[in-house]
Amino acid sequence: MVGDIMRNMSIKKCFILLLVLIGITGGYIYVYNSGKLSEFYLEGIGYSKRSANYITDRNLVRSVNGYSDTLERAISNNLYKSVYLDDYLNISYVKRDNFNKEVNYFLDNGYSDEDINLFYRMGSDEDILYLLSSKYNENFSKIMRFFIRGYLERYFNYIGVHPENELSDNVIFVNIGLDNDYYTNVEDVSNPDDILVYVNKYHKLDSGYVPEGLVSVDLSYGVKNQYMRSDSYEAFKAMADDAKKEGVNIFVGSGYRSYDYQSNLYNRYVLMDGFDKAETYSARAGYSEHQTGLAVDILNGAFTYIEDGEMEYSWLISNSYKYGFILRYPKEKEYITGYMYEPWHYRYVGKDYAKEIYDSGDTFEQWMAKR
Ligand SMILES: [Zn+2]
Repeated sequence: MVGDIMRNMSIKKCFILLLVLIGITGGYIYVYNSGKLSEFYLEGIGYSKRSANYITDRNLVRSVNGYSDTLERAISNNLYKSVYLDDYLNISYVKRDNFNKEVNYFLDNGYSDEDINLFYRMGSDEDILYLLSSKYNENFSKIMRFFIRGYLERYFNYIGVHPENELSDNVIFVNIGLDNDYYTNVEDVSNPDDILVYVNKYHKLDSGYVPEGLVSVDLSYGVKNQYMRSDSYEAFKAMADDAKKEGVNIFVGSGYRSYDYQSNLYNRYVLMDGFDKAETYSARAGYSEHQTGLAVDILNGAFTYIEDGEMEYSWLISNSYKYGFILRYPKEKEYITGYMYEPWHYRYVGKDYAKEIYDSGDTFEQWMAKR
């Protein structure tokens, strides 16, 4: 008896609860469909009254899952295109004149939301202008890894000329400067004392630059009248000592060279071998790494420059990085370094960088272009 009453009571309670729920839901649906609630909601999350009204009138509120500056401005600037609603929501707003116009242009031309977000995050004004004036390019998102702001036109031009290369390689090559002829687009080296000082056919040292801390190479470590920067010389001595313990003899053949010395040397090579040939192995004055005091041409035990395949060569290839030296002009990388293969020319960069470069398998140019 008592149990029956309890059961009836709870059924009654459930019934009342159900009625209340139906009431609430019905009321909600009514208010929602009347638009008032959705406008209230849209304004609450940041849309202007006009946009809230616009979205509600077109029954889009279910698609608008949050506030988007891009959408707000598309509507308020009369640049809203209904097919792009989802895109507007995905594209981060960037404060610039004509942003919504540009976005519509990119969307009209087939770019994805992801591409467009990348353009504005990574590109300079010049890059964006270039994109606005060129056709759809499917490569954009694939070249972002080592992208340098302002280089977009150069990348696309180079990719057009060298379709046979990997895209990422083309980006690296442009970063190196290879889309310009050697000795053009030259930058002055601003950090000549830096351990990573970067000198090549696009990076020039001042004619008056002489490194500090040059020391004379002792005759037990090299030929006469050689100088090196003390840090690279100390490293070279440690390397030569350890090599010797393994029966391998190496010596400094050519270390630091002054601007004037390099100038004479280069001119002599040009007279001897002709301009074209000399350019493949000799640097013009100001463009030689030897002027930094960090480069060394290494001699073997017979006092001739080291050649591929010799025991000195093999020892250096496996060990030089441990002392901070890298092979600067490797085999088959002439088109990157601008110099023919030089098995004897090493460059001091310090142990940490030398290991990084060694592990990467890159030339110094490639490694620098990825930094
Ligand atoms: Zn050299």
